[in-house]
Amino acid sequence: MNTSKTKDKYQIAIVPGDGIGKEVMEATLFVLDGLDVDFDYVYGDAGDECLEKTGTALPDETLDIIRNADACLFGAAGETAADVIVKIRQEMKMFANLRPVKSYPNTNSLFENIDFMIVRENTEGMYIADEEQYTDEGAIARRIITRQAEERIIDYAFKYAINNSKTKVTAVHKANVLKKSDGLFREIFYEVASDYPDIATEEFYVDATAMYLITQPESFEVIVTTNLFGDILSDEGAGLVGGLGLIPSANIGENAALFEPVHGSAPDIAGQGIANPIAMMLSAVMMLRYIGENENADKLDAAILKVLNDANILTCDLGGSATTMELANAVKNNL
Ligand code: ATP
Repeated sequence: MNTSKTKDKYQIAIVPGDGIGKEVMEATLFVLDGLDVDFDYVYGDAGDECLEKTGTALPDETLDIIRNADACLFGAAGETAADVIVKIRQEMKMFANLRPVKSYPNTNSLFENIDFMIVRENTEGMYIADEEQYTDEGAIARRIITRQAEERIIDYAFKYAINNSKTKVTAVHKANVLKKSDGLFREIFYEVASDYPDIATEEFYVDATAMYLITQPESFEVIVTTNLFGDILSDEGAGLVGGLGLIPSANIGENAALFEPVHGSAPDIAGQGIANPIAMMLSAVMMLRYIGENENADKLDAAILKVLNDANILTCDLGGSATTMELANAVKNNL
């Protein structure tokens, strides 16, 4: 992850996708326009509507746009989400999935002081989905853990900790049962940790972590874990801080990065202009940090926080009656 401003003008791939993806993207670009940073937007098509129009949910042209950009902002894809986002992650070798878990005021967060990052390995583990045909006894799935991929993700987690003033990284695994695969993950964790003597380490089994996330969530700073465990704990994290409309995410590769809200296209509210754009805006905050625009990231983050603190312009998922663009306007006015 970059830590300082790298360019005067950034090329950003914009893939709004389907349903509320388009609405929250419009609101986010409106807000980004209020920052002191120069973007060159290149639009790409993807998702259900794109499939209907062009016969493919993810045209090669869109992949090229993402490949050539400094970063990509992605809205949401509907039924085709798996084909679109999984394919982009694979094509761009986006090995790290980042899911911040942070409590904001005037939301349904279960606790007040939660602020940690889940760094999830995105390319292997259980989700290689290598399942043989059914066997006589049932079915078999293989789980792959490689030294190269786990070293890379663990190193990323420690670098993230350093760049974001965190003091501790927690490894989550199940090495007492998965002695070889998670035993290796654990071993690599301590090897990598020895390069970062200023960052404290901690390790928990995944089942215990599921409980600690409920009993002491404020004790976590950075969690690093394998693909399936990360997926499950991320959604537990989303539940902790209440509400899909608030949760951003990042997919990071060596040469490409994509930032997207965790929610999908929400066909039930699409087209009404009432979707909460904050998850998309917080994804843009992550993008700004990635490209090294930390001051602008802080500014946008603070403007969003002020809207949540003031609590008089909130969308209906947060108990208010504001429209997507009214909320965007309030954020922009706070910049
Ligand atoms: P998809 O099939 O694209 O995943 P979905 O409706 O199954 O769509 P989500 O889009 O993740 O899944 O949304 C689940 C529900 O959460 C929606 O029905 C919607 O009411 C609510 N929701 C999700 N995102 C938002 C948002 N940004 N603002 C308000 N409500 C939201």
